[in-house]
Amino acid sequence: MSQQRSSIQVILIDMDNTLADFEKSAKEKYESKGFIWPDRTDFEFSDDTNLRPIITAKGFFENLDPIPGAIDAVKEMESLGFVVFFCTSPLTQYLHCVPEKYTWIERHFGKEWVKRIIVAKDKTMVIGDYLIDDKPNPEKGVLTPVWKHILFHQEYNKSLNRQRITDWCDWKKIIFQEEEEEESEYWDKLSESIKYENYSVDTRCSCSPGQKAWCICYSGR
Ligand SMILES: [Mg+2]
Repeated sequence: MSQQRSSIQVILIDMDNTLADFEKSAKEKYESKGFIWPDRTDFEFSDDTNLRPIITAKGFFENLDPIPGAIDAVKEMESLGFVVFFCTSPLTQYLHCVPEKYTWIERHFGKEWVKRIIVAKDKTMVIGDYLIDDKPNPEKGVLTPVWKHILFHQEYNKSLNRQRITDWCDWKKIIFQEEEEEESEYWDKLSESIKYENYSVDTRCSCSPGQKAWCICYSGR
């Protein structure tokens, strides 16, 4: 049962290397064939002809392990009243990749959660409050995104100075901090927009104890 939140907050969550451990499985299979796994300093794989057959093979995506803590984190988000959608960009060679992503979600979350999958090559086309994604630059797309990007930590994005979740057990701290900052910015803008003499916006006004309501206070005579 979801808790009540003051407004709907939609969290979009990427799948590969955010929820599902693509990297671990790809590396194991790659090395099992006698290849040396390259240092991943870039998000994009180069045209690695040894890797391509591994990740396009039947069964690769549906058998990825969840990243530790990911499943519990998503369920906790829902229990706290957030609305979660999975937002995933499939391989262009989609034959196995796309259906297996659906299978993966059903296997780890249940059938109902399959309705929460959004397949989008360009995530700027998707509406939400936050996008948790290991990709360094998901904001590059046709539109200016409405969501705020929160990085999911991976080796290849570690140099980026951006808000990030390093471990799924930290998700609440990061999202709540973001919510507080957004709220603070909102009140600052509201205060700025109200310029009447002797009036001010007071977010801690005792007129509405315990609520995040706002009050325009008159301080004149
Ligand atoms: Mg990813």
